[in-house]
Amino acid sequence: MKATKRENFRIEVTPRSAGDFGFASVSGMQRSEAEAERLCEDIAEQIRRHVDELPSRHMSRQRGVYVMWDSKPICSHCGSAWTEEGPYNGGCCDKDCEEEDARQAAQGAVNGSEGRK
Ligand SMILES: [Zn+2]
Repeated sequence: MKATKRENFRIEVTPRSAGDFGFASVSGMQRSEAEAERLCEDIAEQIRRHVDELPSRHMSRQRGVYVMWDSKPICSHCGSAWTEEGPYNGGCCDKDCEEEDARQAAQGAVNGSEGRK
């Protein structure tokens, strides 16, 4: 008989969205990464202070409340998802194309000088 073991019980807390003011909400507002992290750390600290049944301080430096995030690779210029293995994202934007052209040109220059020896 197949059974399921449940383990690694944990708590994940999501902060309110940037446009949620409690009495009204405005959609489309964004926080910077730094603002979002600071808000989450504030909430984590409040949870540590007020909630029972967390690991005790000497067992866990962060007392069982962790600020976690997912990392996803994006293009630094246009913010598109990074889908390629190498330094070229397949031309997601003009800047990505320009950088690839520059790399190709640099590569050509290196090969050219080696060829002349
Ligand atoms: Zn791009």
